[in-house]
Amino acid sequence: MNIKPIETRYAGYRFRSRAEARWAVFMDALGVPWDYEPQGYVIEGIPYLPDFLVYPESRFAFWLEIKGTFPTKEEIGKAQLLAKGTGTTAFVYFGKPEVPAPDLSHITSFEDFMGSPGHIWTDEDGWREYPVRPAQWEIGLPPTAFRLDPSSMMRRPKSGFWWWSDCPHCGRAIIKAAGQVIGCPDLPEDADQPAVHFAHHTPRLLNAYRAARSARFEHGESP
Ligand SMILES: [Zn+2]
Repeated sequence: MNIKPIETRYAGYRFRSRAEARWAVFMDALGVPWDYEPQGYVIEGIPYLPDFLVYPESRFAFWLEIKGTFPTKEEIGKAQLLAKGTGTTAFVYFGKPEVPAPDLSHITSFEDFMGSPGHIWTDEDGWREYPVRPAQWEIGLPPTAFRLDPSSMMRRPKSGFWWWSDCPHCGRAIIKAAGQVIGCPDLPEDADQPAVHFAHHTPRLLNAYRAARSARFEHGESP
């Protein structure tokens, strides 16, 4: 079957899919700077035009590839080579443009975050404590994305809970594991930070998800 998403116009760009346009609306609502298809690459002989470069020309820059469905192994492989070749982290995001999890701010202890420990037998140390996954809060939540790190060439990258997180320290919205506030560059390293800090469900992010979902677009096809 030959089926193709309709181009969607927004902010002077022609997006290849409505999902991409919704993420552009989302980032605009947050004041997050982005470029759409700024640069194509030939990766191992195959042309590749990544969707978004977010926070371009800054040390927070990352690629954001939007997929309407769970990505194929080939798509993940290409994004991995893109990250490696450009030295810039790449996300392949297949989750919907909606808040990825309920408010989890009641979870403040590391034990609750990690899940209760079980035990695993090791020949070296006998029974060893081992976190039992998933933790209670994870159950029923779908993964949203793959994160491809320029320095890691994992053979089989795993999808995970990569959620937009609203940093209370610097005001940047970036994609973090389980939306955690951690490693903010504007905080001194010795600053006291809670071990667990979910920031995926803030009013600012909820507002941006709402804007993305409710945006109406013109058809992008020219006559
Ligand atoms: Zn920050």
